[in-house]
Amino acid sequence: MLFCYVNKYYVIFIKTSVGEIEAKMQKEMTETGILWRCLDCHYTTKFKPVLFQHVESKHTLSSGYNCQFCSKFCPSRNALRCHISRQHKQ
Ligand SMILES: [Zn+2]
Ligand SMILES: [Zn+2]
Repeated sequence: MLFCYVNKYYVIFIKTSVGEIEAKMQKEMTETGILWRCLDCHYTTKFKPVLFQHVESKHTLSSGYNCQFCSKFCPSRNALRCHISRQHKQ
């Protein structure tokens, strides 16, 4: 029951973060071709997946998770699961 809820939360989190990541990505046309720019730090690359990874690792919360009950930050999904089972067990 508890695990289902955590998994559901995780899916929702991933869906929203994709939109968040794409909002920070800008496509530019230059003399040498297409360039992808990060709007947060002006990092540029020719490859969209590289920029996607850059934004995901540097400018989003996907390297950690907030507890949906008390908003405590946990560095991994496993840590969040442990936190919930310890702190929010009924
Ligand atoms: Zn950046
Ligand atoms: Zn909590």
